[in-house]
Amino acid sequence: MTGTALPVMNAATGCVEAPVLRERGQREVFCGLTGIVWLHRKMQDAFFLVVGSRTCAHLIQSAAGVMIFAEPRFATAILGDRDLAGMADCNEELDRVVRELLARRPDITTLFLVGSCPSEVIKLDLGRAAERLGGEYAGRVRILNYSGSGIETTFTQGEDACLKALVPVLPEAPATQESVLVCGTLADVVEDQFGRIFAELGIPVQFFPPRRATQLPAIGAGTRLLLAQPFLNETARALQSRGATLLSAPYPLGVEGTTAWLRAAAEAFGIAPERFASAIAAPAQRARTAVARYRPTLEGKRLFFFPDSQLEIPLARFLARELGVELLEVGTPYLDRALVAAELPLVPATQLAEGQDVEKQLDRCLAARPDLTICGLGLANPLEAEGLRTKWSIELVFSPIHGFDQAGDLAELFARPLQRIARLKV
Ligand code: SF4
Repeated sequence: MTGTALPVMNAATGCVEAPVLRERGQREVFCGLTGIVWLHRKMQDAFFLVVGSRTCAHLIQSAAGVMIFAEPRFATAILGDRDLAGMADCNEELDRVVRELLARRPDITTLFLVGSCPSEVIKLDLGRAAERLGGEYAGRVRILNYSGSGIETTFTQGEDACLKALVPVLPEAPATQESVLVCGTLADVVEDQFGRIFAELGIPVQFFPPRRATQLPAIGAGTRLLLAQPFLNETARALQSRGATLLSAPYPLGVEGTTAWLRAAAEAFGIAPERFASAIAAPAQRARTAVARYRPTLEGKRLFFFPDSQLEIPLARFLARELGVELLEVGTPYLDRALVAAELPLVPATQLAEGQDVEKQLDRCLAARPDLTICGLGLANPLEAEGLRTKWSIELVFSPIHGFDQAGDLAELFARPLQRIARLKV
């Protein structure tokens, strides 16, 4: 552990130079399989086949819910005792399961074989399996693989790994084709809102992941990459290696973040400031009004972020600057400075923490007694039992929170636990 000194705040640089508390110890986070919950809703012709244990099946079913009347778009090929003991040929079994699945479900156009802790432990090579089966189904079903294992990862890395697996199969765009590529899963309603603003600005835009896995965006030297999520490090690097240029911007959370995010694209395309101001005027004003409703509840409240979703830094910026909260500690599983370069100068003085040693962090949290703690599900109940109010960070990934029209809803997610306790006290 290093850097335990209090952060040094410089108004001009925000948290850029603040010391970071780096911890390595026991962590309390979900694994990357969780990403299937929002990825399968987004790419409606894709299927996610987890190759894992009953625990993996249980996690994914309870997180995503069971669709009784719809055909599910995820499943688990369960590794049994004989597989785990190396007594069965897992590849043969997997091929059989995939053949049965694809025979029954002609609607599947892209199949992801998703690795797990057990498949990694027995060193089942899903890359080779995807290649082998991909050859068999060439022209009909694209078969890719990635790992959602919880070994040394946090849950949003599942989306990063999935999108990275798609990058090599993205079509090549002609060098003269200029467009913005918005990268990161967005709810369809949010994607439509952004689509309308980009259209008004006259900027061609593509979204990744797309709604249909067969309609992949084209990428090339004219692609400007605008990340919608701060946890897509690997995908961003892969896209850059395909020629895309990363636009540095805060993330589109809250009025300020959304404005700056859209402005980064507008500036890259030489859009006149007046045209930009006019395109965002109405939704930005609606968002300011919606956010202002929650300021009385949140202003001056002391917040503590445990590291979980990797959204912590942009959320802390939004809450501090637009709602007046006081940040006690902002933990994040990984601090990739390149991806939060435009965020850090905007985050007011606070203790940044990277990684986790959960017992030590719990001690700090309990000593600080924040008004609201943002944490994973596993920590929420114990902290509530200690009399602290909590917000589940996973809810922030499951809910539409990006863009102007969701800014009020985002503020409400943090205000609700505080309003509930105020009501209980009356
Ligand atoms: S991938 Fe690992 S952490 Fe995730 S449910 Fe399966 S066994 Fe648990």
